[in-house]
Amino acid sequence: MDRFFRYAQIDTQSDPASNSQPSTSKQLDLSRLLLEELKSLGLTETEIDANGYVYASIPSNSEKTVPVICYCAHVDTSPDCKASEVRPLLHKNYMGEDIILPDDPEQVIRINEHPYLLEKIGQDIITASGKTLLGADDKAGVAIIMELACWFMQHPEIKHGKIRILFTPDEEIGRGVNKLNMEKLGADFGYTLDGPELGSFEEETFSANGMHFIFYGVSAHPGHAKDKLVNAIKIASAFIEELPSDEFSPETTEGRYGFVHPVRMEGSPEKIRVDFIVRDFNTAKLHAYEEYLKDKAADALRKFPAGRFEFEVKEQYRNMKEVLLNHPEVSENAREAIKRAGIEIRQSAARGGTDGSRLSFMGLPCPNIFTGEMAFHGKQEYVCVQDMEKSLETIIHLSRIWEENA
Ligand SMILES: [Zn+2]
Repeated sequence: MDRFFRYAQIDTQSDPASNSQPSTSKQLDLSRLLLEELKSLGLTETEIDANGYVYASIPSNSEKTVPVICYCAHVDTSPDCKASEVRPLLHKNYMGEDIILPDDPEQVIRINEHPYLLEKIGQDIITASGKTLLGADDKAGVAIIMELACWFMQHPEIKHGKIRILFTPDEEIGRGVNKLNMEKLGADFGYTLDGPELGSFEEETFSANGMHFIFYGVSAHPGHAKDKLVNAIKIASAFIEELPSDEFSPETTEGRYGFVHPVRMEGSPEKIRVDFIVRDFNTAKLHAYEEYLKDKAADALRKFPAGRFEFEVKEQYRNMKEVLLNHPEVSENAREAIKRAGIEIRQSAARGGTDGSRLSFMGLPCPNIFTGEMAFHGKQEYVCVQDMEKSLETIIHLSRIWEENA
């Protein structure tokens, strides 16, 4: 908890508009602090590289050859909400009431919107004060991993293989692993500590493509345009109108259903571009969605025979399950660790991507373990102290299980 409070007060917001690496230099304020703390805990191979990645090792104390396991968390916080002057507050022995945040009493964490809180009665909750996010995403993960390092350095009698620690910048803007040096990392398997409620374990993410359409009209001076002008804006509007409102959309799907989602439209009567994101757990289905969109675009053009369109598909990320299927022990060991910590597993599939989905395809199979961070990216974000402790307990067990099974 002390660690979390210290880290949460450091502004580490990333910036999607920046081209530098890391996107904001203030992320290094935390990364450098972590590096110093790791060194003073006695970890080895501690380094912060030119791209802002922090690496460190807890050396093996086992005679066996144990796979090198990496625990990873991101230091940045979301650009969606104010992140400077974060004032974390502890609500000790929480009694199940709505939590009013004192710096802005309009900000209330309500039980009916956050029923998970009812499972936390009698425990300790940390929130922000009402004007900022909390940053439990992912400083909860950072604090848990730091505490793991501290714990193993104090318990040399507990056997484990080599553990690599990795803190990344810019996860929230989708660049978390862009410049990661896999060779330097030198790990066989990994786990991100960036999951939500107690016991949640994510070994699946969406598979994701981006797709854009460009519709071309025929331009003419509007004063003399009769029977000549074809307005691309109207073609694009007809296309969007063709999309069903009751299926294939993020606002009408949940669980294991995928979707297509227009995210941006920009242009003029002459030419307009419509950007989509396409998501499903089953990668093969992405193609079907893309064909579906193409058909709808062709349908829209029937009313505008002089218009035309082109499209392009770009791969974004893939469901990590495709990789994890080849390494079943990565998930099996994590499930066993959660069980040994006395927790029921909440198996869930992330309706999004994680650093782990990219890492898995970069050669580091990497599911996501709970930290307790909830309602992230907003002012009502909170985290339960006892959930963080259980997460720590889980990864201690997990490190031991890898050694036992080696
Ligand atoms: Zn996160």
